[in-house]
Amino acid sequence: MYLNDFEYFAPKTCGEILDLVGRLGTKAKILAGGTDLLIMMKEKMLKPDYLIDINDVQELKGISYEPGKGAVIGTATKISEIEHSDLIREKYFALSQAAGELGSAQVRAMATLGGNSCHASPAAETPPPLVALGAKVVVKSIAGEKELPLEEFILGNRKTTLAEGEILTKFLLPEPAPRSASRYSYIGLRDAMEIDAVNMAVNLALEDDGRTVKSLRMVMGSVSPVPLIAVEAQGILIGQVFNQELMEKAAQAASVEANPISDIRASAEYRREMVAVLARRLLQQAFNAASGTKEGNW
Ligand SMILES: Cc1cc2nc3c(=O)[nH]c(=O)nc-3n(C[C@H](O)[C@H](O)[C@H](O)COP(=O)(O)OP(=O)(O)OC[C@H]3O[C@@H](n4cnc5c(N)ncnc54)[C@H](O)[C@@H]3O)c2cc1C
Repeated sequence: MYLNDFEYFAPKTCGEILDLVGRLGTKAKILAGGTDLLIMMKEKMLKPDYLIDINDVQELKGISYEPGKGAVIGTATKISEIEHSDLIREKYFALSQAAGELGSAQVRAMATLGGNSCHASPAAETPPPLVALGAKVVVKSIAGEKELPLEEFILGNRKTTLAEGEILTKFLLPEPAPRSASRYSYIGLRDAMEIDAVNMAVNLALEDDGRTVKSLRMVMGSVSPVPLIAVEAQGILIGQVFNQELMEKAAQAASVEANPISDIRASAEYRREMVAVLARRLLQQAFNAASGTKEGNW
């Protein structure tokens, strides 16, 4: 379980990080919270020659918000800061819920939001709510920066669009729509420090009548290599007056759209059933919150 020898850098600015990643190339790894990286190094899955610790770089940390525009979350923001942020709880509830469920208190104090997406585990907690909330990521290199939706950044199991010399710097979350609500939940043995068998986030906005679904994003995790947007299920509810029958149809459609595998955590059949369970529960909760009605019994 010993780590390989490596040279350690602790830059103070984003410019210094970009110089380092540009110069050191694939032999270097970014060290954020280290809760994935150091385990992979201990297990000899990775043997970087250089570690670039980004924890001293203030411009990559923290949560800011501008009314009408939305929130910006720095890549090196700790999951615990997101979990305890009143702003995130009020405006982006699904992300607040997911942050509160990631690992243990110790892990959340170390782990960063950026690390969770860059590691790109199919079972990761925060990408589904971020995608449901319409988050974009900002990717930077010496050559400049680009913005892309998170669902285009994560390409597969431990695969992202990050090319040599690039780092993720921040997440951009749009202002939530009026009469909207988001919710997140998972199925899994978290008390046993187990990762999710299935997770899901829903972000639902209603028309002025408070009953018709104006927009909807349903994103499933752990049932595909990437956060999976339940396009069919969304289409069943968008433009319709929310009711139990359509909600059930949408839940069944999401279950069909899921593309799970069987592994030691759950069978593919169980995962599909749990997709429908989560879809019903989250759609009802989000509708109740967006319409201002009492929370349901799900
Ligand atoms: C006991 C335990 C329980 C866990 N439980 C959960 C869980 O329930 N749910 C869950 O989703 N995860 C869980 N994890 C995994 C892990 O904590 C998260 O994925 C975490 O968010 C990773 O963030 P980090 O800052 O620690 O990343 P690091 O380990 O520092 O980095 C992860 C990867 O991303 C790269 N990277 C990080 N930041 C950047 C950046 N800005 N630009 C480019 N590359 C970057 C690193 O080089 C590395 O390859 C758990 C881990 C442990 C040890």
